[in-house]
Amino acid sequence: MDFEINTKGKDLFLALSSISLILMMVITTMLWWFVSPRLHDISEFLAKLSLTFLRIFYLVLVLGTILVYLTSYLEKNFLIARFAVRAYIKVLFPLTILLGSIFAISKDKIRESFVHVNNAFIKALKKKFKYSEVLILLPHCLQNTGCPIRITVNIENCENCGKCNIGELVQLAKNFKIPIAIATGGTLARRIIVENNPKFIIAVACQRDLVDGLQEVFPIPVYGVLNERPEGPCRNTRVSVKNIKLALEKILY
Ligand code: SF4
Repeated sequence: MDFEINTKGKDLFLALSSISLILMMVITTMLWWFVSPRLHDISEFLAKLSLTFLRIFYLVLVLGTILVYLTSYLEKNFLIARFAVRAYIKVLFPLTILLGSIFAISKDKIRESFVHVNNAFIKALKKKFKYSEVLILLPHCLQNTGCPIRITVNIENCENCGKCNIGELVQLAKNFKIPIAIATGGTLARRIIVENNPKFIIAVACQRDLVDGLQEVFPIPVYGVLNERPEGPCRNTRVSVKNIKLALEKILY
């Protein structure tokens, strides 16, 4: 069975970020054109320097865009110039969200699409990892709200009563001998990552937390799994354990 990574929703982010790039290039070029006579008056060197800086900036972003497109659609690893991909994401992600708000596209929709782009990168990596190099990171909202057991310090306290997915996930991690942890927030997630030093992370979270996490831990590859929220955000969320199992089967040696 193939690695069940859903990469089908990536078009929205790619389209919006490309439009954002074009708009940003047009606006900054116009701005430069307006201020360049003044810069020439101050110093020829300053005028040339600012133009060179602008050209390099555009070049990096265009290179990043090309690599992201090639990797996302051909699902082959073209992420050679990772700095360009990082610049593309860092600069264009906020602009893409801004552009989306003009077209009344929700932030979560754009974030979800970005997660699919990220997962296309993971699929393109075609790399295997040892079980000791992988970490499963879960959000606290997966735990059933009525559960009295403290699992944040030690997830193994879970008694696998079947009321939420935690028990199945702990069992899955045991079977594959990989570390699994629950993060109640960004600070704890960072600490868990530092302590485990993973080379590959399977992270379950909502759109916002996943996107923040993916950007923060870059260049560690993260397979992002969006949780389901049948009772709304942050309460009794669910996740497809089967999907995580398939991902593990595919990435482990
Ligand atoms: S599966 Fe574990 S965490 Fe979930 S409700 Fe049961 S004991 Fe609590």
